[in-house]
Formats: sequence, structure tokens, C-alpha cells
Amino acid sequence: MSTTVLATFYRCGVESVLTGFTVVLLPFCSLGGAISNMYAMLLARFKMFPEVKERGMASLPRLAAFTSEHSHFSIKKGAAALGIGTESVICVKVDERGKMIPSDLERRIVDAKQRGLVPFFVSATAGTTVYGAFDPLIAIADICRKHGVWMHVDGAWGGSLLMSRKHRWKLNGVERANSMTWNPHKMMSVPLQCSALLVREEGLMQKCNQMQASYLFQEDKQYDVSYDTGDKAIQCGRHVDIFKLWLMWRAKGTVGFEAQIDKCLELSEYLYDKIKDREGYEMVFNGKPQHTNVCFWYLPPAIRCMEDGEERRRRLHKVAPIIKARMMEYGTTMVSYQPQGNKVNFFRMVISNPAATFEDINFLIEEIERLGQDL
Ligand SMILES: *Cc1c(COP(=O)(O)O)cnc(C)c1O
Repeated sequence: MSTTVLATFYRCGVESVLTGFTVVLLPFCSLGGAISNMYAMLLARFKMFPEVKERGMASLPRLAAFTSEHSHFSIKKGAAALGIGTESVICVKVDERGKMIPSDLERRIVDAKQRGLVPFFVSATAGTTVYGAFDPLIAIADICRKHGVWMHVDGAWGGSLLMSRKHRWKLNGVERANSMTWNPHKMMSVPLQCSALLVREEGLMQKCNQMQASYLFQEDKQYDVSYDTGDKAIQCGRHVDIFKLWLMWRAKGTVGFEAQIDKCLELSEYLYDKIKDREGYEMVFNGKPQHTNVCFWYLPPAIRCMEDGEERRRRLHKVAPIIKARMMEYGTTMVSYQPQGNKVNFFRMVISNPAATFEDINFLIEEIERLGQDL
């Protein structure tokens, strides 16, 4: 059964969506985006220094990885777990909309080399967690090629936009990456957990991770072992998480997922259009969001008339947490919030459930105002 599942996945699945990619492993594992990102870093290191597998980090020069200051925390976590260290993850500046600035990436790669570090890994983000920003992948690919660095795309959140003919241009350049993380368990509503790591170089995953346990991975099995992903993973026993995606894909088709994704983006655009000029709202960044992340402040009347300054910032910082707490007490809705850089707490409305409706969005706005107007 599982061989058939995997074979079908290979044939009809990701390869046709992501031109030029081979699905090497991780769709089938019980993982998440954080672990997929760590696998990518592991592969990049192995590609440059295969001896690390036997001899460990002591045999290597000091490495440097690069990712934007808005990237997911799992990049640093992976570096810590792999013995590379969080100090070796160099943060690249982002523009006003949260996209990595390619010239700053290049400057930092050159600077790291001058300091005697070896740049080995760049993780661009396709759909940042907070702003939903897509890093400029084409420019980043050029820099990676020029400096001989592995290009990874963390598309845990935004990778699913590849399913949409209307929105996939946002990932232009992804076809040049060495690896990509994609989480069907986020935007595509596959039940947790289901994360895929797509790797360009066939066989690398195997070389990097295999231990050839003779009691499991016999070559003389009665079925085709080329789909046996077991020895590519770090884990031994695993869920067949790919099955959920396979089943949904068979049921909905790519057009089904596309409709689902387009709907979520349409809903978020509706929310953005409703609040961008509405009294009491301020957007965190200018322009239409690229993903479904709508980031905004709600300003209660008492704050609206205050002059810009420390006191206003201090008051505004407390608004989102109080409204969120009230939302939870009433049990009506929940919207996450966070500060980012020098920006005080703001709401981040993310839509990944295609069952949501325009009325739900209207309700959300009314509810925020109802719960926050006395603050
Ligand atoms: C959510 C997210 C991750 C982590 O994915 P998990 O499946 O929760 O481990 C990594 N990167 C980005 C950009 C994310 O949004």
C-alpha cells in the first residue's frame, strides 16, 4: 500500500507543481517546517563538507548561515541543534515590507568571508510568518550562485501559493533553489503534521543520513526499494503523514487546492480593503499584503486623539493583548498579536481556513471595536 501511495505522489504530485524539483524525502515524515529547515541546513553542510558525517564539527572551519531578520526562529534553532551555533546565523536586513534586501545579503557574505568564516547556507523566506513577505528569490539565487552557497527557500507558510496560477509568481526564482520547505499543514488545511522538504540533488539525502541498518533496509526486498525513504530520515519509526496530503490531493485535485488558496487570499484582501482607511485602524506596512497576513493596529478613541510619542506607544502596546484576552473570554474569535522590531504589539490576522466567509470578516472588525473601544 505505502509503496503505491508514494509512487503516485511522485508521479502526480509535487514534481508537476514545482518544475525541476525532485521530491527526495520528507513529505512522508512526521515533521514540521522547523525540522524540514533543519534537514536543509544539514544537507547544505554535508554537501560542502561530507567529512562532517564521520568526523563532526571539529573537522570543519567556522561556518556562516544567512537569513533575514524576519525569518522563522527555526533557522537559529536548527543551527543550535546541529552544533553550528546561533552566532553563526547572520541576520540580513529587510525592507519596509519585510523582504530580504539582496545587497545587504551580499555585503554580509563578503564580510563573513573576510572574517574567515565559510558561508554555506542562505535561507530565503517565501511568506514570512508575521508579515507574509516573499523574499526576492531571483536576486538571492544570483548571489548564492556567485558565492557558491546553498540556497534554501523556507516556504513553510507561503509555498502553497505555488498551487495558485494567480499567486505563484510571488515565488518566482524558487526553481533555482537547492531545497525548499513546504507545509501542506498550514495553508492547505492538511491536518497536523505534514511538511515536505524538496531537494534538488537526488541521492544527497540518502548519502547524508543513511546508516544502512541491515535489519531494516535490505536491498533484496520483494518490492521496489527506490521509494523507501526510511534511511534518508533522521527518525527511525515515523507516521505516514503524506497519506493525508495524498488523499486530499486525490479528492480535491490541484484545482481544488487552488480554489481554496485563492479564496483565503481574497478574504484577506477584503479585510485589508475594509480597514485600511477605516477610522481607528493603522496598517503596519504600506500596500496590499502578499499573503493572507493582514497586520494592523486598532486604536481605541482615547488613543486616536493622543499625540505621537512614548506615552501613545506605551498605551497602544497594551491594546492588542487586552482585546485578545477579551476575545478568548467571550469565546467569539481569536487573532494573534506580536511586537516586531521597534513596532509595538499589533494584530496579525491570518486566514488559512477557506470555510471563512466575508461575514466572518465583518464580524471580526465589529468584535475588535466592541471589545476595544473603552481602552
Ligand atoms: C510555521 C513556520 C515554520 C515552522 O513550521 P512548523 O511546521 O510549525 O514547524 C517555519 N518557517 C516559517 C516561515 C513558518 O511560518
